[in-house]
Amino acid sequence: MDCLFCSIVKGEIPSNKVYEDETVLAFRDIAPEAPCHVLVVPKTHIGSVDGITAENSAVVAHIFECIPKIAKLGGAGNGYRVITNCGPDACQSVPHLHFHVIGGTQLPAHCFPEND
Ligand code: AMP
Repeated sequence: MDCLFCSIVKGEIPSNKVYEDETVLAFRDIAPEAPCHVLVVPKTHIGSVDGITAENSAVVAHIFECIPKIAKLGGAGNGYRVITNCGPDACQSVPHLHFHVIGGTQLPAHCFPEND
């Protein structure tokens, strides 16, 4: 199966790596929306939040254990937001589960800034 983030995990496509261990890779988003914009992905392929099961959820728990240190390494000093888009209505563009860690600046209070 052709998967962009699987190719990044395998090193076939270069990435700007922030953190890596045996189950998780974190790298900078190619089109950052904030000074810190890091993507955290499981090394095993999970399509999206919809693909999380009792069998693979330990890797998701591990991702969240790693996120505070990834946020710090990525430059989110004073708070950050963790976002995952799931499916077409949420504009998920890469079908491999990933968590956006966004920070390094004051973020708007709401997802939709017109509601601020
Ligand atoms: P999403 O739209 O939630 O599926 O997020 C996918 C993210 O992957 C977007 O923010 C893209 O900018 C990012 N992206 C796409 N290709 C690459 C790449 N080769 N390296 C790093 N980030 C990428």
